[in-house]
Amino acid sequence: MDNLKLAALKGKKRSVIRVGEIGFGEDFVVIAGPCSVESERQTVEIAQAVKQGGADMLRGGAFKPRTSPYNFQGLGLKGLKILEKAREMTGLPIVSEVLDTRDVSWMCEYVDVLQVGARNMQNFSLLKEVGKTTRPVLLKRGMHSTISEWLNCAEYILNEGNPNIILCERGIRTFETYTRNTLDLSAVAAAKELTFLPVIVDPTHGTGKVSLISPMSLAAVACGADGLIVEVHNHPEAALSDKEQALTPPEFEELSRKIRSLRAFMEALSERPSHGKEEKR
Ligand code: PEP
Ligand code: MN
Repeated sequence: MDNLKLAALKGKKRSVIRVGEIGFGEDFVVIAGPCSVESERQTVEIAQAVKQGGADMLRGGAFKPRTSPYNFQGLGLKGLKILEKAREMTGLPIVSEVLDTRDVSWMCEYVDVLQVGARNMQNFSLLKEVGKTTRPVLLKRGMHSTISEWLNCAEYILNEGNPNIILCERGIRTFETYTRNTLDLSAVAAAKELTFLPVIVDPTHGTGKVSLISPMSLAAVACGADGLIVEVHNHPEAALSDKEQALTPPEFEELSRKIRSLRAFMEALSERPSHGKEEKR
């Protein structure tokens, strides 16, 4: 990937992207929250539940990229104001998707991290616009994109002067139909050997199935991801978007517990002095 003039690792130090007290690339960051912001009560309740369950940041869509124009499109500005309120009440920084170049600069006043979604990964005007800000950008991999195309999109943002990029693997379309997408964890390891940017995983959109979120989250931890973004809803059956893939707060809490155990195990493993003959005996 010779065209990655700025994004290539090539001996550079790995980035740490700061969001409040969190450091992507330093800490393992867990982002959780609803697919869509639906009401103040729903968002605040979920924010409090995920905070209690171990989340570091809150997610929630105010502008939703929906397949059908008749589906819920998000609350827009009202949704962002609700997210602000949830941040005030819980202290959790927020990430929300920006769909339109015209919304980039004013949305920076509301969100801590701007999400560029899979459907907009190669919206080059949007990439240039978020690149002109200093807000961290969560750049999701497009559902039809190669690793090279994805990293070139990070290059667009870097080229405009914004170094604060967090990559997110969220699954790609394959011939498989059992899962919503095919979560490509090899892309996590690949992106980490090719660039200096932190890489997180979205097992929610990556699988589309509640039963697969926990195993794929643990696999993401094991393959070296820097964090996770997962959808949580207090009443999944009534969610206005992506109801079939939302964890309940107790399921999220259980997942957080497993992640902590696996991370502690991996840290202990990396601290073991030798893998030589001594240990085999
Ligand atoms: C989302 O995170 O709400 C979303 C729409 O994800 P993606 O862009 O990965 O489909
Ligand atoms: Mn969703």
